[in-house]
Amino acid sequence: MIQITDHLYQVQDRVTQALKLAGRPDDKVRIVAVSKQKSADEIRRLYDAGQRDFGESYVQEAIAKQRLLEDCDICWHFIGTVQRNKTRPIAERFEWVHSIDRFQSARRLNDHRPEGAGPLNVLIQVNVSNEPQKSGIALDQVIGLARQISDLPMLDLRGLMAITRAGSSDFEAAQQFSAVRDSAEMLGAYGLRFDTLSMGMSADFESAIASGANCVRIGAAIFGPRHS
Ligand SMILES: *Cc1c(COP(=O)(O)O)cnc(C)c1O
Repeated sequence: MIQITDHLYQVQDRVTQALKLAGRPDDKVRIVAVSKQKSADEIRRLYDAGQRDFGESYVQEAIAKQRLLEDCDICWHFIGTVQRNKTRPIAERFEWVHSIDRFQSARRLNDHRPEGAGPLNVLIQVNVSNEPQKSGIALDQVIGLARQISDLPMLDLRGLMAITRAGSSDFEAAQQFSAVRDSAEMLGAYGLRFDTLSMGMSADFESAIASGANCVRIGAAIFGPRHS
C-alpha cells in the first residue's frame, strides 16, 4: 500500500527546503492536499497525520466525501471550475475558492454564502499561460475584477491562483510564476488587501515557492497518480 503519510512528510520537507533556498526560512506555506479521485479513507489518514487543508475540483464528489468526514475539522478548498448552477453548494460547503475568473460567479457565491459562516475566502484565477481554452482571466484584467469583488461583503479576496502551461520548462514556469507575483503586488499598490499566492502543483511547487508562492496545491506527490 502506498504510504501517503510518508509522501506528505516528504512534501513538507521539500517545502521547508524550498523556503530556505528562497531566503524565506520563517515563512509559512499552506499545503493544500488535492484529493480529487481519492477516497475519504485516504483523506482521513492524512488528517490523522495532521493535514487540515484539502482541495477538490468537483462539487458532487467533494460533498460525498465531506459527509463521511463531518467529524473532522477540515478546511475545504474548491479549486475546480465554478459552474453557475453549483455556486450554492460551493458557498455553503467550502472555506476557500481558488478559481474565480468572472464577476458573475463571484456575485453568486456572495449571495449564497450563509450569513453565519463568515466571508468566503476567494482567489482570482489568472490565465498566465494565455491558453485560450484554459480557465482564468488575463493578467491585465485582474485589477478590474479584484475591485468588483472587493465590494462583495460575503467574499474576502485573498489573492491570486495560477496554473502553469502543461509541459512548461522550469524556466518557463518560473517566468509565469513571477508574472503572477508581480500582478499580485499591483493589487497591493491599488489598496486591495492580498496575502495569498496559490501557485505550484506536484511538478513545480518548488519553483513556485522560489517565486513567492505561499499556498501550493499538491495532488499526485502526496496521494500517488490519478487514473487518467
Ligand atoms: C488537480 C489539480 C492540482 C493538483 O495537481 P497535481 O499535479 O496532482 O499535484 C492542483 N491544482 C488544480 C487546480 C488541480 O486541478
